[in-house]
Amino acid sequence: MPSEAIDSHAHLYFDRFNDDRDEVIQRAKDAGFVAIINIAVDEQTSVQVIDLARQNPGFCHAVVGVHPTHSGMPASELAATLAAIEALCDEHPQQVVGIGEIGLDYYWKDVSPEDQERAFIAQLDIARRRNLPVVIHCREAWPDTLAVIEKHGAGVIGVFHCFGGTVEEARRALDLGWYVSFAGNVTYPKAQDLRDAAAIVPLDRLLLETDSPFLAPQPKRGKRNEPVHSLHTADQLAKIHGTDRRTVLNATTFNSRTLFRLSSGKIR
Ligand SMILES: [Zn+2]
Ligand SMILES: [Zn+2]
Repeated sequence: MPSEAIDSHAHLYFDRFNDDRDEVIQRAKDAGFVAIINIAVDEQTSVQVIDLARQNPGFCHAVVGVHPTHSGMPASELAATLAAIEALCDEHPQQVVGIGEIGLDYYWKDVSPEDQERAFIAQLDIARRRNLPVVIHCREAWPDTLAVIEKHGAGVIGVFHCFGGTVEEARRALDLGWYVSFAGNVTYPKAQDLRDAAAIVPLDRLLLETDSPFLAPQPKRGKRNEPVHSLHTADQLAKIHGTDRRTVLNATTFNSRTLFRLSSGKIR
């Protein structure tokens, strides 16, 4: 029997899965996966992740929200978008398990930091109102992301997905009481800094993810990523922590269930 696993961050609604989405999901089930959490990036994909969750009840779950690189819009449009997304939380309580992905991204320059921060803060507020965890996307914006959460994130818990910060930043994330998730890039030969950060994240604060279709781990690097490939990432995390795959999967599966309040069925 393979250990139970959860891919806490995937985008299986992307067109790149149109030809074989059901096979991708079945491969994950055959490998022991008990859940895949699909993360939206805007209003339209928030509807898509809910559809996917309805088509795969109890297995696919939905996280809805506006990604920082999709947050460039006038204030009135943002308010309408977020109102629609908040309504989805009410209409689909069985499917929606979190708000995301939200945060700051200073790598892509097309949305101003001010627009990004406005959307980020407003969605932390939604998470607090709806009592939902958040999925944080942060790229080249660690100091500001942590500052926003420290200032506006009281009463909210979440995960820093695809962690790309330093050991010191990982420590601050842990100090918040939040979870930290590593994607396939932690397996890349040059990513020693990521492995150093992963080493200080205790197993009870670690999540497993693919960020499918992106960031396939080393043996599959350059190919389309899919949930089952996160087992390679689990092996790397096991090596870093001096343990085995089963121990990492037991811990990360338990942590995902706790953060997103999943059960083997779903208790929400
Ligand atoms: Zn992301
Ligand atoms: Zn993502």
